[in-house]
Amino acid sequence: MNIHEYQAKELLAKFGAPVPAGHAAMSVEEAVEAAKKLPGPLWVVKAQIHAGGRGKGSFKELPEGSKGGVRLAKSLDEVRAHAEDMLGNTLVTVQTGEEGKEVQRLYVTDGVDIAKEFYLAMLVDRATGRLAIVASTEGGMDIEEVAHETPEKIRTIIVDPATGLMPHHGRSVAAALGLSGALAKQAAKVTASLYKAFMGTDASQIEINPLAVTEDDELVVLDAKVGFDSNAMFRHPEIAELRDLTEEDPMEVEASKYDLAYIKLDGDIGCMVNGAGLAMATMDIIKLNGAFPANFLDVGGGADKEKVTAAFKIILSDPAVKGILVNIFGGIMRCDTIAEGIVAAAKEVDLDVPLVVRLEGTNVDKGKEILNNSGLPIIAADDLGDAAKKIVAQVKEAA
Ligand code: ADP
Ligand code: MG
Repeated sequence: MNIHEYQAKELLAKFGAPVPAGHAAMSVEEAVEAAKKLPGPLWVVKAQIHAGGRGKGSFKELPEGSKGGVRLAKSLDEVRAHAEDMLGNTLVTVQTGEEGKEVQRLYVTDGVDIAKEFYLAMLVDRATGRLAIVASTEGGMDIEEVAHETPEKIRTIIVDPATGLMPHHGRSVAAALGLSGALAKQAAKVTASLYKAFMGTDASQIEINPLAVTEDDELVVLDAKVGFDSNAMFRHPEIAELRDLTEEDPMEVEASKYDLAYIKLDGDIGCMVNGAGLAMATMDIIKLNGAFPANFLDVGGGADKEKVTAAFKIILSDPAVKGILVNIFGGIMRCDTIAEGIVAAAKEVDLDVPLVVRLEGTNVDKGKEILNNSGLPIIAADDLGDAAKKIVAQVKEAA
């Protein structure tokens, strides 16, 4: 789960990170009011979308050459003009894809005189299974280029969970950023506050880019991207509340209501599977047969009729879906219960694409009987290979 920059900054400030003052705004008037609460004479108006690259982005509705989604303002009138330009318009950045994202919220914050921009992030390193701190002297809007062309300028420091963050980690970060003296101490302090925030919120990623050195030799967090482990959000209701559903895929939001693990993909074969491993195998075998899955969907172990129906509706609401492959292993769930669910759901949703079903496991014969007697045009498959072949053939034939 991701949150907006302003929410991330409010959160990190609670853990002691140095964040400039700022206020969120949902309208032009609110943006001007927000600016009035800050001292000036320099403000920054920032589009709040769940994507980076805003500074170098552009608005679809504005003439070419207009400024991006992060703008300096030297007066309240400029704040107003920027807010008018951004709110309700579509910001396209390297991370949004060409469709862009509509800006519904702004953040108005103190403008800072920047001497240097660093990069500092924390994430879970899959190779070591530990928290990794990533630091670079080359922060700012071109970090992707740095990673690509001069990867040696990016340093990684791994933290052993048995010891947690130690003073030497903070010193290593300061050294990686080329800092000494008071700024090195500040870097260690910032690192400690981010680590506390990461552990305390079950974060999966905290990215500060830039972490800036001001002309007064202060370290400040100028941009913050924070993501969390969704599976841990039940432990943090106050963070779960920060979720902005307008930033998420509507079908994925609908799926999450039913506790379905659904991720939309680019292909045309909808998949309904129980178990993440089986779902992965199903997607692989569809590809092996020359087609592409339209989604990943794990209905989970306890899939009942209601869940199966919801899953069907979600798959079918994707106009790209030209056929559905159901691949269910009845372990704890019996195949006849699943078959009943499939039949009821298929009737309820007016199935108008070919449906191939492969069932295996407890009460499989009863399950197949229910499917065969349903009067629905369900194509039964014997095994996974057979199922994939059949659905791919059906979809190709219809095309
Ligand atoms: P993004 O990464 O989405 O482009 P940032 O928040 O990093 O957005 O802003 C882009 C650039 O704008 C930063 O690299 C920094 O140079 C400048 N900037 C951002 N916030 C401020 C601020 N409060 N004061 C001065 N400059 C800022
Ligand atoms: Mg940034």
